[in-house]
This record gives sequence, structure tokens and C-alpha cells, in this order.
Amino acid sequence: MDVQNREREKRAAELILANTELIFQNLEKEKRAAELIIANEELVFQNNEKEKRAAELTVANKELLFQNEEKEKRANELIIANIELDFQDEEKEKRAAELLIALKELGYQDEEKSKRAAELIIANREVLVQKLEKERRAVAEAKKDEFFNMVSHEFKTPLTNIKAIHQLLEKKTDKADKIYPFLANANNSIQRLEKLIADLLDVTKINSGQIDLNIAAFYFADALTNSIANVELSANHHEIILENAVELLYSGDQFRIEQVLINLLNNAIKYSPQANKVIVNAKVANGYIEVCVQDFGVGIAAADISHLFQRFYRVSKTALQFQGVGLGLYIASEIVKKHKGTFSITSEPGKGSRFCFSLPL
Ligand code: ADP
Repeated sequence: MDVQNREREKRAAELILANTELIFQNLEKEKRAAELIIANEELVFQNNEKEKRAAELTVANKELLFQNEEKEKRANELIIANIELDFQDEEKEKRAAELLIALKELGYQDEEKSKRAAELIIANREVLVQKLEKERRAVAEAKKDEFFNMVSHEFKTPLTNIKAIHQLLEKKTDKADKIYPFLANANNSIQRLEKLIADLLDVTKINSGQIDLNIAAFYFADALTNSIANVELSANHHEIILENAVELLYSGDQFRIEQVLINLLNNAIKYSPQANKVIVNAKVANGYIEVCVQDFGVGIAAADISHLFQRFYRVSKTALQFQGVGLGLYIASEIVKKHKGTFSITSEPGKGSRFCFSLPL
């Protein structure tokens, strides 16, 4: 029994021990569980922290990405800005080069201006000299006209005397007398002198603006036939053919118009010694009377034609061959101008000339 009890007691002690052991193990387990819970919580916390950190990192990453993009954008912008600056630099250089050229141009223009100014000064001086020369010439011309006027008047009286004496002598001298041809010759000289004096007086009148017209209505055909009759008196070798007389009343200075016609007819005869006819043609067209005097004589070179209406102009080639002083055409053109008319000349050397004038009706 004792043994059994002892066994039982041993068994109970062992069970208590085992129980204690189990309690202890339980306590350990609980401690361990509590530690695990804490560790778990710690892990959860760490996980949360990690997630938070990861989220923060994601945000930071995004931020970095964004910053990177921004940087790239900025870098691109800088590249563009750089290119722009390069371009601007090129433009500036170009502009600088252009400015340099413009400066040179301005310098050149300045030089040109100075040159031009110098030229203008010279031209101005030239104009002044020409003006003075013109004034000097005008004074000389006026003096010349005054002299011609005075001489012509001085010649007139003695010439009238000579003419009277000549007429007396011609009457008293027998045509068979030896001196008669001399008297006829003297008559020619008297007429030439008379014409010269009349021309000189006309020129001085024209130059001083004193040539007045006696305007009256007359039959134009009369002026034509009178002039032809006048010239025919001394025309021994030429026939003057009037192709067409204008039968109308014209208002003008008949004496002066006849003077123009007589001058043209005398020239036509004088400058065609080898020919035997002169043609006069008159017609009315477009409100004008046109009169043409045509000869078949020496003609005039084209270069001389434009000068024929200048005072004292004579064609040098023929000047010595024919008598004259170069006033007739000048006076004729002034008379035609006074009638508001115009002159035209066509001519061919060696073949003849055609002098025409038109008068408005
Ligand atoms: P002049 O006959 O006295 O020289 P004019 O004034 O009448 O002066 O003529 C000027 C110049 O025109 C003449 O010297 C002559 O050279 C030229 N001339 C005029 N009429 C004719 C003509 N019918 N034929 C050729 N030359 C002419």
C-alpha cells in the first residue's frame, strides 16, 4: 500500500511538476504570443511606414519625373533660346554689316553731295557768266541796232538825192548813148541800197518791238498778183507761175504780206540762176491760207535750214556767189509770226527749194 501510495504521490508530484511545466510553458507561450503580437504590430507598423514611405517615394518620384520633364523642357527651351540667340547674333552681325554698308553709302552720298554742291556752285557761276554775257550781248545788240538805225536814216536822205539826180540823168540821156548802160547799172545799185536801208530799218523796228501791223481786210489774190507783178519787173529769165490764187478776203497787213511774198520770190529767182520758172501755189485748208513758193535752184542742205530765219544768216557755201545780207527771211518770218502764222521749208541741194507759210483765217 505504501508502495502504491508512494507511487501515487510520486505520480501526483510528477503531474504537479508537469502541470507547473505546462503552466510555465503556457505562460511562455502567452509571453511569446504577446511578444509575437507586439512584433506583429511592429511589423504592421513598419509595413504601414514602408507603404507610407513607398507612397512618399512614389510622390517624390513623380515629383522628380516632373522636375526632370521640366528640366528637359527647360533644356529644350534653352536650346531654342540659344538657337534664337545665335540667330539674333547672326542677325546682329548682318545688321552690323548692313549698317557698315549704309554708313559707307552715306559717306559716299555725302561725297556725292559735296561734289554736287561744288558742281552747282560752278554751274551757278556759269549761269551768272552766261547771264552777264547775255546782258552784254543784249546791250551790244541794242547798240548795233541803234547804230544801224542811225546809219540807215543818215543814208536815206543822200540816197533820195542820188535817186532824183539819177532819174533826171536817165530821162535826159539818150538810150543809144554810151553811158546809158552805166545809168541802168547805177539804178540797180540804188535799188539794192534802198532795199538794204529798208531792211535795216525793219530789223531795228522788229528788235525794239515797234513793227506795227496795219490790219485791214483785203483780197488775198491781190497780194499775190501785186507781188508777182513787182518781182516780174526785174525778172528777166524766169517765168512766175501762179498755180492757184486764193479768192477770199483776208484780214492782215497787205503791205507786209506782199513784202514776205516779194522776198520769197526774189530769193527763188536769185538762188536759181540756171532755172527759168518759179511756181507760186496758194490754197485754203483747215482754216489756214497756205502759200508756197517753189524754185528749181541751188537748194539748201538740211543742216542749214533751221538757221535760215536767224538775222544775217547766209548759207556759207553759196554766200559769195549771190548778193545779199541775210535779213530778208528773218524779216519775213517775223511778219508771218506777227500774223500768228508759221513757216516751213523743204529743199534738196541741187534740185530746188519750197518755202511755205500758213496764216490762220
Ligand atoms: P539773203 O538772200 O539776203 O542772203 P535771206 O534772209 O533772204 O537773205 O536768206 C538767207 C539765206 O537763205 C540766203 O543767204 C541763202 O543762203 C538761203 N536762201 C534763201 N532763199 C533761198 C532759196 N530760194 N534757195 C536757196 N537758198 C536760199
